[in-house]
Amino acid sequence: MKLVLATSNKGKVREIKELCKDYEVVPYTDLIEPFEIVEDGATFKENALIKARAVYKALNDEDVVVIADDSGISVDVLDGAPGIYSARYAGENANDKDNLYKLIDDIKAKGAEFSPAHYTAAIAIVTKDKEKTVHGWMYGTALTQARGEGGFGYDPMFIPQGFDKTLGELNDEVKKELSHRSKALKLARVVLQNL
Ligand code: IMP
Repeated sequence: MKLVLATSNKGKVREIKELCKDYEVVPYTDLIEPFEIVEDGATFKENALIKARAVYKALNDEDVVVIADDSGISVDVLDGAPGIYSARYAGENANDKDNLYKLIDDIKAKGAEFSPAHYTAAIAIVTKDKEKTVHGWMYGTALTQARGEGGFGYDPMFIPQGFDKTLGELNDEVKKELSHRSKALKLARVVLQNL
């Protein structure tokens, strides 16, 4: 079964390909020109559905299975921010590093050196006659420093529960075992098997 991913985020594409090795996984940008999708949902779930529906429609191929991931980090001392705004926390054209250092600064501005935090991933699966969503979470601590080069996005400032290194320092296998995305994808695989 060919799975078309409604994302061009390289970090996500890499992780989803690795976790779905038995499927043919193709980012939609390999098939059609990238286009802007307005993610104006109020939740990760709504935004994942918005992306999956938009790409399904644009592909114009009723047999395709589209998967979209909407994800982000929520920090307790910031009352859950950046949450669904994680990709554009430092502004519309911000890159991963801009977002990471803004989050570090904002936690420091609260007078904290670290904070409990968690990642959420919502995955939407859209086909001709079905729309399904699943979720996964990873809990841990957000630091006010970036450590390591692994992962992507906020990973260098995030220590998963039970570890003393950031996801930037731990090897990819650790994240593969416990990430929000891998937990959601495990559930997504059950949905895919039952399509
Ligand atoms: P989305 O593409 O709109 O879902 O935005 C997701 C954003 O959340 C990414 O750009 C990252 O900043 C952040 N994010 C989501 N998952 C991860 C992860 O596994 N590691 C680090 N950052 C992540």
